[in-house]
This record gives sequence, C-alpha cells and structure tokens, in this order.
Amino acid sequence: MTVTGATEHADFVVIGLGALGSATCLELARRGQRVVGLERFGLGHSWGASHDTSRILRHSYHTPDYVRLTQQAYGDWARLERDAGTSLVSVVGGLDLFPPEPAISPVDYTESLDEVGIDYELLTAAGVMHRWPQFQLPDGLIALHQADAAIVPAARGTRVMQDLARSHGAELRELSPVSGVRELGGGGFEVDTPQGVLHCGGIVVCADAWVNDVLSGLGHTIPLEVTLEQVTYFEPERPEQFAQGRMPLWIWMDDPSYYGFPSYGEPTVKAAQDCGGPVVDPDQRGSETDEEMQARLAAHLRQMLPDSGRPVRSLRCQYTLTPDRDFVISPVPGLESVVVGMGAAHGFKFAPTFGRLLADLAVDGRTTTDLSAFRMDRPALTDPDYQAHWLV
Ligand SMILES: Cc1cc2nc3c(=O)[nH]c(=O)nc-3n(C[C@H](O)[C@H](O)[C@H](O)COP(=O)(O)OP(=O)(O)OC[C@H]3O[C@@H](n4cnc5c(N)ncnc54)[C@H](O)[C@@H]3O)c2cc1C
Repeated sequence: MTVTGATEHADFVVIGLGALGSATCLELARRGQRVVGLERFGLGHSWGASHDTSRILRHSYHTPDYVRLTQQAYGDWARLERDAGTSLVSVVGGLDLFPPEPAISPVDYTESLDEVGIDYELLTAAGVMHRWPQFQLPDGLIALHQADAAIVPAARGTRVMQDLARSHGAELRELSPVSGVRELGGGGFEVDTPQGVLHCGGIVVCADAWVNDVLSGLGHTIPLEVTLEQVTYFEPERPEQFAQGRMPLWIWMDDPSYYGFPSYGEPTVKAAQDCGGPVVDPDQRGSETDEEMQARLAAHLRQMLPDSGRPVRSLRCQYTLTPDRDFVISPVPGLESVVVGMGAAHGFKFAPTFGRLLADLAVDGRTTTDLSAFRMDRPALTDPDYQAHWLV
C-alpha cells in the first residue's frame, strides 16, 4: 500500500470480507498483488452468510458443470488445508433423499454425476434404514449416497482464509463500509471509505446481499432477493447415534427442502430448511428466532429422524438469491476491471475456488474454467420477465 496526500494506492480493493471476499484477498495476495479488503462490520460478524459452524461440501449437483466445479472445490480446500497446516474438510458421506414424486428430479443428479464420472450408489428407503437406522423413511423413496460429501467450517474456515491472506501481505480492514466507487477517466478507480479515498487498479465486489449498494454507483444492478433463513440445533438423548461415521449428512430433495448434519464439534444435530425464510431488507432485518420455521423443521425431523431430540437453539443467516440460483463470477459488462462474485446461497463450498477464479478474472481478465453460465449479462439476470426458481 502506498500513500500520496490523502489518497492511498492499492492494486486491488476487495469489497466484503465474508467467505468469498476473504478467499479472493488470499488469492490476490498469494500472487503478490497489493490488496486491501474492506468489511463494513467486524470480521467474523453474523449479519451476512458466512457465519456459524458448518457448511456442506458435496459432488452431487444438478448439472455436469456444477459437478465439475465441485472437483475444483475439493482440490482448492485441500490446498487451503496444506497452506494453513490445519484440517478443514470432514468427510462424512451424503444422502440426497428423493421421496415419491419429488419436486427435485433425481435424474438431474444421477446423469450429472455419471457424465463427470463421480461414483455414487442408489438405495431404497429400506436400504438406507438398514445401514442408518436413525432414519425413518417412506416407501418409494430413492436415496443417492455419495461417499465424499463433507462438512467444512463456516466461521473458522473464513477466519483461516483471512489469517492466511494477512500472512501473504493483504490488508484487511473491518468497520470500513464502502460508501462510493468511481471509475477514473485515466483508468483505475476511487473507493470511498471512512478512512479516506482508496485508489486502485481493479475492484472485486463480494458484498452478497449488499452487492447492489456498491454496483449501483457504477450504473449496474443484479436482480436478487434476500431471505432470512434459520438453522436449528437439536439435542438428541443419545448423541452418539448422530456422530460422524455413524450418520451421513442429508438433503431432503422436495418442496419444502430440508438438510442436516451429523454432530460437528458438539453433541447436537443441526438442520434447516432450504429457502424457507421471508424476503427481507438486509439493513432492516432482526435476528430473533422464528418459532414457526423452527416448528416446521422440528415436525419434519420428528418424522425422518425421530431420535434427533428437541430444538435447543436457532440462528439466522441470509440467503442472497439470483433468479436462477446460479452464481455470479463475472466482470461487470463494459467495466472489465470490476469483477463480481456471488454464491447464490450455495457458494461456501466453492469459497476457495471463487477466490482463485475471481483473482484470475481480476488479474488476467480470463480464466481456464468456462464461466459463461455465471456471467452478469446472462438472460436470467437481464430479462425482466425471467421466472425465478430457487429449488435445485
Ligand atoms: C443458513 C445457510 C446455510 C448455508 N449452507 C450452505 C452449505 O451447506 N454449503 C454451501 O456451499 N453454501 C451454503 N450456504 C451459502 C453460503 O454460506 C454463502 O453462499 C456464502 O457464505 C456467501 O459468502 P459471501 O462472502 O459472498 O457473503 P457474506 O458472508 O454475506 O459476505 C459479504 C460481506 O460483504 C460485506 N459488505 C456488504 N456491503 C459492504 C460495503 N459497502 N462495504 C464493505 N463491506 C460490505 C458484508 O458485511 C459481508 O460481510 C448457506 C447459507 C446460509 C445462510
């Protein structure tokens, strides 16, 4: 970082230090770039999407492109573990549970895994209950078991990336809300922060729910909805039944859709509904428990995991949903030096990969991975008549 008069200079400014922005700072610093990361709240805050204990990392996805991207994600997590000298990936196996006439098609998943050549097995309800008697499942259910499914740490993983980024020379500033971004005629940008103006060659925007607060200053917006989700921890009487190795993580592939974990660092069972929360304004939302959401989830668990126990705590977390629930990994159209990363409420498993791909776009203007499905000018983000669908 260099300072001339009131202006500081950096090669890149990264806006937002959740999982995606932290991974991007790490990647840019690894490549010797002078990078400043700016976070409006304190690092590790719980007002965004990257806090709490755990997130799912899996291969089973609804398109071959996503399945291929998961292969990169596993590789990037392994690299992060090596660099950090700590274990971050807990492989527990995963069950995608498709009840009779599911709202989500199992064929999309089996065909995508087949095309990429990822192993899995299909089980009946009886087959699952024989192997994992914790489950009570309806006849006619089909389960897809993928053995590599894993748990990665949310808050801890983000902190590891922040610490590594700093160790490579990145400057991370908390309580530094960006209030304005301007393109300079002669190239480069000015970024307004409480500490003054930052001049930089390029910008990476990883502001998730607040992305349009930043982009609107540059004449662009992305259609999105922010929902306030809730996860709940249940206390089973016999927690050893739900220990890693005794039970896989699971996703109920229907509408409503639910997902859950074996125990992770505490004798509880965590579960949640996917896309079950109300649409909110991220600046106006609270964090109190939604009793109705908790009761709905508890009712599902009483049926599917009867011994999972009573709910002991819940916490809120934001989903930022694009209309097609696909990512944004893209330069801003016509403004190639501003790159945007959004995880569309399923991006944590790809955080280290987002960091690498966003750094490729920021530094080289291109990457070897086909990101055309994640461009900002794709029809789902530009066609006002596009019908949003979030269940995948
Ligand atoms: C309940 C829940 C469960 C999930 N489960 C999974 C899962 O199992 N697997 C998975 O892969 N994904 C999962 N996700 C999605 C995943 O967590 C998110 O996609 C990911 O964390 C998004 O990271 P982010 O860095 O983009 O967003 P955030 O963590 O929200 O970071 C954005 C940051 O930008 C900052 N910011 C905004 N505006 C400004 C500004 N003007 N100036 C400075 N800073 C600013 C914000 O304060 C925030 O810290 C889940 C999400 C939730 C909520």
